[in-house]
Amino acid sequence: MSGDETMMLVLNAGSSSVKYSVFSLPDFERVFTAKIERIGEPDTGFLNFQDAFKKVIQDIRPFPVSLAAHRIVHGGSDYTKPVLLSEDVVRDLERYIPLAPLHQPHNLEAVRVLAQLWPDLPQYGDFDTSFHAAHDDLYNAYALPLSIRTLGVRRYGFHGISYRYLADVLKRNHGELAKGNVVLCHLGNGSSLCALKNGVSIDTTMGMTALDGLPMGTRCGSVDPGALLFLLNQGYFSSSRLEKLLYEESGLLGLSGLSNDVRTLLQSERPDAAYALDFYCHKVAQGIAAMGSSLGGIDAVVFSGGIGENAEPLRKNILQRLDWLPHFETLVIPTQEELSLAKAIYESITNGH
Ligand code: ADP
Repeated sequence: MSGDETMMLVLNAGSSSVKYSVFSLPDFERVFTAKIERIGEPDTGFLNFQDAFKKVIQDIRPFPVSLAAHRIVHGGSDYTKPVLLSEDVVRDLERYIPLAPLHQPHNLEAVRVLAQLWPDLPQYGDFDTSFHAAHDDLYNAYALPLSIRTLGVRRYGFHGISYRYLADVLKRNHGELAKGNVVLCHLGNGSSLCALKNGVSIDTTMGMTALDGLPMGTRCGSVDPGALLFLLNQGYFSSSRLEKLLYEESGLLGLSGLSNDVRTLLQSERPDAAYALDFYCHKVAQGIAAMGSSLGGIDAVVFSGGIGENAEPLRKNILQRLDWLPHFETLVIPTQEELSLAKAIYESITNGH
């Protein structure tokens, strides 16, 4: 890339929303940001991604955008660094739709729609799984026969774009801690933990899919697989109905019967709201201790994500449950996933990958 003024469109497409920002290069200043929500609902005027992306293109017209960067949730074993999203690559990434049914199809649809509307715009992708790509098999595997493990049934981990940003900030601003054992907590609607050793991810709570590990806004987190077999085998649920239960009706929403939103639960007087929050904090504390075991000690715990950054009562609740551990530092670092994505893709291009 030359020194001419150029800008990058950064996209994060969900099932019914698209967040988009424009960054100037090479200084990574965010010059524009917006979000379209409730795509598909008639009163919004955005019946589908086509409509939404026409608005995106219209919004960014004032900026000299010359490339786009997409957040792609699942890159499996094969995609461990940013990649140019050619038609072939997009088709190949469809393999991972069953592993991230809530995110991957929409991430890829966004690439396709933008390619139709703006064919000569180069589009790149970066993956939430990549940051965990170097995990040892001790942390990656499930205790299943080799024939099953070779099918790609293993733990991948997610939230890597956020974790990479937090690891960079640690390195820049907390050099000594960054060389030690750190547990990164990405606590938002999706929640997971990452065991960071000398700046490298060695373990994480999420698995093959983004359902595993901690309970989340609407996702269940770890559940005995035997319980799921029970629900299927006894005919309570079809597999598609079970998928909806586990991804959309469980977690804080399922436990409280009230909401997936921590703000709502904190304001509620209902015992089930307090119970759901206690349950969440207990599992986060357990998870931090587990990451500490993988690391062989904890020098610092970093809180991030909407809950980690803002919900002081939850941070306190979590830390009280870890009183028995030797002293460790506690930091709150606001994550910046879009900036992390923009930087990774820019570096990958300028390094000629
Ligand atoms: P996503 O994973 O969708 O990006 P966020 O990281 O934005 O989600 O986190 C959303 C969660 O953060 C919600 O449960 C929300 O209630 C919680 N949250 C945001 N702000 C606050 C706040 N000031 N106090 C408590 N919880 C908050």
